[in-house]
Amino acid sequence: MKKHRLTIAAADVSIVFALGCLLISAQDPKLGYSDTPLIPGTKWHVHDGMRPQPKVVESAQASGAPSDALVLFGGADMNEWNKSWKIEDGHMEVNGKGSISTKRSFGDCQLHLEFATPAEVKGDGQGRGNSGIHFMGVYEVQILDSYENQTYPDGQCASLYGQCPPLVNVSKGPGEWQTFDIVFKAPRFDGDELTRPASVTVFHNGVCVHAEREFIGLTRHRDVARYTDTKTTGPISLQDHGNPMRFRNIWVRPLGEYDAGS
Ligand code: MG
Repeated sequence: MKKHRLTIAAADVSIVFALGCLLISAQDPKLGYSDTPLIPGTKWHVHDGMRPQPKVVESAQASGAPSDALVLFGGADMNEWNKSWKIEDGHMEVNGKGSISTKRSFGDCQLHLEFATPAEVKGDGQGRGNSGIHFMGVYEVQILDSYENQTYPDGQCASLYGQCPPLVNVSKGPGEWQTFDIVFKAPRFDGDELTRPASVTVFHNGVCVHAEREFIGLTRHRDVARYTDTKTTGPISLQDHGNPMRFRNIWVRPLGEYDAGS
């Protein structure tokens, strides 16, 4: 009986949701105004009811991804990657097979990723829980066990490696699951000329540690980064730095432009 009631409730929610989608996806002059000034650079009036509504997306559930995300690793397989690490209990673990890259390429995107540094602490500095996310294969947001583990600041966890430390250190302890939520903006070029550097906004364990921080170039070790090509898309790579790092719940949302309609 209880199960039956739950089923009806779920159906009700679906119907209400569907109706809601229909209602808010419609372009309706009655929603706003057409006698207001035009917003500069657009064909839309201020509060224009005919302006296209943003696409409806269901937000992330407890440990899931938003409905429009591409799941890069959900716990079962590594089909989105060019090779496999060890998969166990819903997570994957670096196992000495080298760094991995997505088969697909991404430019501007939002990335969610969860990681845990080894529970058994070995090494120190850059040798302890080292990995990293390389956007387009070349712009690294560092992953490191930075819990009571000092190293050079532009190499600690959440740094733009070799370029800029995070605003604060919110690292959790060894073995604990941590989150990264990152908005990456690819660089822009006019011919060979850089017109806008790559940048990231980074939330580490829910805390903003970079707000539109610009990369001064492609990540380098013991050298000043610089732009050496004009690429605007590339794979997302995860680094094998020799430590048995664990990852789970990885999803990405390519960030297109708002659909302004025709
Ligand atoms: Mg690294």
